[in-house]
Amino acid sequence: MSSQRPTLEDIVALCKRRGFVFQSSEIYGGLNGVYDFGPLGTLIKNNLRNAWSRSIMSPDHIMFFLEGSLLGPEAIWKASGHVDNFHDPMIDCTNCKKRFRADDPDIDITGPCPNCGKKAWTEVRQFNMMFKTQLGAIADSSAVAYLRPETAQAIFINFKNVMSSNRVKIPFGIAQIGKSFRNEITPKQFLFRMREFEQMEMEWFCTPESSNEYFDYWCKKRLAFYKTIGINTDRIRLRAHEKDELSHYSSQTSDVEYEYPFGWKELEGIAHRGDYDLTQHSKHSGKDLSVFDEETQKSFMPNVIESSVGTDRLFLTTLFDAYHIDTLGGEERTVLKLHPSIAPIKAAFLPLVKKLSDNMRKIYADVARLGLHVEFDESGSIGKRYRRQDEIGTPLCFTYDFDSLEDNCVTVRDRDTLKQERINIENVEMYLINMLKHKP
Ligand code: ATP
Repeated sequence: MSSQRPTLEDIVALCKRRGFVFQSSEIYGGLNGVYDFGPLGTLIKNNLRNAWSRSIMSPDHIMFFLEGSLLGPEAIWKASGHVDNFHDPMIDCTNCKKRFRADDPDIDITGPCPNCGKKAWTEVRQFNMMFKTQLGAIADSSAVAYLRPETAQAIFINFKNVMSSNRVKIPFGIAQIGKSFRNEITPKQFLFRMREFEQMEMEWFCTPESSNEYFDYWCKKRLAFYKTIGINTDRIRLRAHEKDELSHYSSQTSDVEYEYPFGWKELEGIAHRGDYDLTQHSKHSGKDLSVFDEETQKSFMPNVIESSVGTDRLFLTTLFDAYHIDTLGGEERTVLKLHPSIAPIKAAFLPLVKKLSDNMRKIYADVARLGLHVEFDESGSIGKRYRRQDEIGTPLCFTYDFDSLEDNCVTVRDRDTLKQERINIENVEMYLINMLKHKP
């Protein structure tokens, strides 16, 4: 069995063919950097969200979940620094009018335009990436609002609300999954850089003294997460930022990077943010966000360790990682070797011929009633139906044949090893549940 790595084009084609992802507003010509997720894509995304949520929870620590608003007043983004600093440098070619990010490593602005070959650049200008809008009918400065460019600020400004309404002491975490919006100059590489995307962020509030230890703790825990969802450990690494890469408020930052076909790139950021955010919001809002320590009888500003990963970027990463083209006895098959917890469909139920459909449909219905996403498919040759399931990453296929009428057994086929086994129909549910529980 041989296998080769996919290109970005392979992934885009698969997503379109199987309805994982659609270009948003496609029938109107599309909206650049914005995508819709189809039925199978939505299932995968839900599985990723659930896996992430589980991974940050533990009986050993307290984690809350929050759902903040997407719109925020200008004051939040002034305090967070986004109004003044959330810029990317942009440059235009005056000949072909194409726009680029001036710091894109693929663009050399000392040379000619890569699109038209002429050297006719504008000056480099700073472009703020937030989407600005206005609330209500009166256009004064108090009505200015922004779509959030990250979910984190909703956590910081609600830190005291969460703490007092839940009667907890630090350390604890607040996590959030939700949409963020960035007017990226050049959205590219499909789901890697979008204008509307989702983030899964966690802010861990702790004492300054324990903060470095917690930074190490979260780095280890976050890296371990990717193994639990089946990402190839050779293609993932933790990279500490050099001093000159660090944000001015961060003493330590590490990125979880993945080796994409276009190089090692950030998948997740883990940052020691010190007391920067809470101090800024205290200053700008006039509300004290420090906490009182009963032991020392003193107030102090908690430190924050942040972890932030894009759901869509993780979606793309899992597809890159799972996509294989195997050659089996001279025939090619596309297979998504997704971890069972991430696979959109957990099993397919296939009667060998339509005559046997009723028998198989009964087994299928019993399993579907458990709440598992499973499929029944009776159309086409059995080989074709296997290929269709391989391509969307279904871990198991159960087949009902004429022998089943005699021995009350079905054949179960494993997507990765292609091993086939005969099991009693009574054991189908247990077999499936065990596979979901135990597959490493
Ligand atoms: P990059 O350097 O790739 O632009 P960033 O450092 O600006 O990323 P953060 O602000 O740290 O990104 O955001 C945290 C995470 O959110 C990223 O690691 C990534 O997974 C995701 N993310 C950020 N921007 C985008 C985007 N435009 N499209 C999709 N996901 C994104």
